[in-house]
Amino acid sequence: MVDVSIIGAGVAGLCMATEIAARGGTVHLYDREAAIGEHACSWWAGGMLAPFCEGESAEEPVVRLGQESIDWWDTHAGGVERNGSLVLAMGRDQSELKRFARRTSNFDHVSGDFIAEKEPDLEGRFNAGLFFGSEAHLTPRVALSALSEKLATKGIHVQTSSAPEQTTIDCRGLSAKDALTDLRGVKGEMLVLKCPDITLSRPVRLLHPRIPLYIVPRGDGVFMLGATMIEATERSRITARSMLELLSAAYALHPAFGEAEILEIGVDARPAFPDNLPRIRKRGDVIYANGLYRHGFLLAPALARMTADYLFEGKRPEVMDED
Ligand SMILES: Cc1cc2nc3c(=O)[nH]c(=O)nc-3n(C[C@H](O)[C@H](O)[C@H](O)COP(=O)(O)OP(=O)(O)OC[C@H]3O[C@@H](n4cnc5c(N)ncnc54)[C@H](O)[C@@H]3O)c2cc1C
Repeated sequence: MVDVSIIGAGVAGLCMATEIAARGGTVHLYDREAAIGEHACSWWAGGMLAPFCEGESAEEPVVRLGQESIDWWDTHAGGVERNGSLVLAMGRDQSELKRFARRTSNFDHVSGDFIAEKEPDLEGRFNAGLFFGSEAHLTPRVALSALSEKLATKGIHVQTSSAPEQTTIDCRGLSAKDALTDLRGVKGEMLVLKCPDITLSRPVRLLHPRIPLYIVPRGDGVFMLGATMIEATERSRITARSMLELLSAAYALHPAFGEAEILEIGVDARPAFPDNLPRIRKRGDVIYANGLYRHGFLLAPALARMTADYLFEGKRPEVMDED
């Protein structure tokens, strides 16, 4: 009989609760806050389900395990847009496109005509790019709400009281640094823009030697623009430099972004271990599931699946370590 208390209802905790409940386990879910919001790093994510693009800088397990995420989100939350990802570079940065292609797989080299066909608003702006047709994206806040609502239909509500004694799965993100001393923060800054003059159907990554950035369409002329990667645990305050770089990237993609309204400025620190890979760490009766780094929505389903395999079948997760 699997009966667990999960502490933390960000993307790690909600995926964990969903997976264990779906397999018939009893789940008690706790957070400091009753509903997902600005307190969770997951609130600020772009929601790209892009395992092959991430291979540019991530290790092999991220590419392999991340491929599980698209079907998982479709099954448990819905709202997955399977339109692929487009990777572009300005004329002077074409070497970045070649470098990206060398380090990734599962894409097509595409022409300016292809780009214009897929994204008419970018017509005439880019001569070449990479298209990762099997990738997808979702809107994180919608997906997390969908998981919460489904859990609620099973009688699993986020409780704000302190957790009882059953086996605990600790999904506190960066707050678990009090127990996991090798966890660090990687600061990310993002903007939400409203620009009704532009329509995009898929995430677009704009390569640059120093500041590779992406734009994720949220529909109705709203875009998430992200994200910086800074070695810092600070979870607030955007710098002028970051703001300039983010907005310059949007403007380079299309000058109409110069007229955009800034709806939100988001800042948080991603929980990461030294190799930027996630871990399932067992200490006594506590299982820590953490270190999702910049791959929260991409890897939380695999982390949940591996933890459930361990609890229900005794199968040791490939990312399990003891300390
Ligand atoms: C700007 C930005 C862009 C990003 N873009 C992407 C992206 O496109 N794709 C992607 O996959 N990932 C992305 N990420 C990364 C992703 O957001 C993180 O990997 C993910 O949110 C980590 O999730 P988590 O559940 O571990 O932590 P969190 O989301 O921080 O959740 C932890 C939860 O634990 C709770 N908690 C803490 N302490 C306690 C306690 N003592 N008791 C009870 N509850 C507690 C908190 O309230 C919180 O709800 C991005 C991150 C940032 C900052």
